[in-house]
Amino acid sequence: MKCRFCDGQVFVGHQVCHLDILVDDSGAFLDNMPGGAEASIYESNTPFGPFQCCGCGAVYDELKDGQKETSGPIEGWKWPGDSPEDADIKGLIVLTMIRERPCENEIWADNLFVLVEKEAFQESNSQFVSTETFVMQTLRSRVQTWLATPDGWRSNCCASRDYNWGDLINDLPSEHIQVFFTRDEAKDYDILDSVSVRVAQDELLAPDNVPASLVLVYRDGHTDILGVVVDFQDGSISSNNFFKETEVVEGYIQMADGSRLNCDPENDFRSIAEV
Ligand SMILES: [Zn+2]
Repeated sequence: MKCRFCDGQVFVGHQVCHLDILVDDSGAFLDNMPGGAEASIYESNTPFGPFQCCGCGAVYDELKDGQKETSGPIEGWKWPGDSPEDADIKGLIVLTMIRERPCENEIWADNLFVLVEKEAFQESNSQFVSTETFVMQTLRSRVQTWLATPDGWRSNCCASRDYNWGDLINDLPSEHIQVFFTRDEAKDYDILDSVSVRVAQDELLAPDNVPASLVLVYRDGHTDILGVVVDFQDGSISSNNFFKETEVVEGYIQMADGSRLNCDPENDFRSIAEV
């Protein structure tokens, strides 16, 4: 049977086992066998109830279809194997994000689970920074970092280079920004706080001021590396250095993680190529 509450199919049951042990000269228990108790079990009987659901803590006398529970799910129940390894250093902030587009009287709301470092959250708390400010700074900074990667740039191009909160919600890059739609996806981290925040749907989320390296490969084979600033909202690259674009055969932005964003030769290598 499946648990009536959570569809769980694994339960804690009970079992009588026989095992070899060490006894003293009066026949009293002395110790387990050198290999441990588990290794010295030679017979085990049929498991019996009560059975407790590993998923939610509900208890059943028997595991047969239609069985009524003897007690229901336990609030805050956590099966030890379910907790992520870093559960003591990370936690979730539940963010209800309300997106508004006032000119059209439109409004949308979503619940998001934002994974954060507990220490950073407590630190900002101790400096009287509101949870709202903390979670939005964290979120904006992660989204900006991601939008300045080849993957993020692709998404921005798909969104006609005006990537906003609506685009983020439509195709949430959970892995990259550690934000999830459900508690299930977010795993069993503690919930640290919950807040509700209003944002403008059309806010441009891509950073417009990212220092980067522009690598230019010249016709004669030599390369130049220039310090530039990239505007990821429109893809433009600004540089204080002069270069002769007619001599350049290839140009790309070299990212810190080793990835590359190709420059557009049509625009004299002064913007990132559309992808
Ligand atoms: Zn259950």
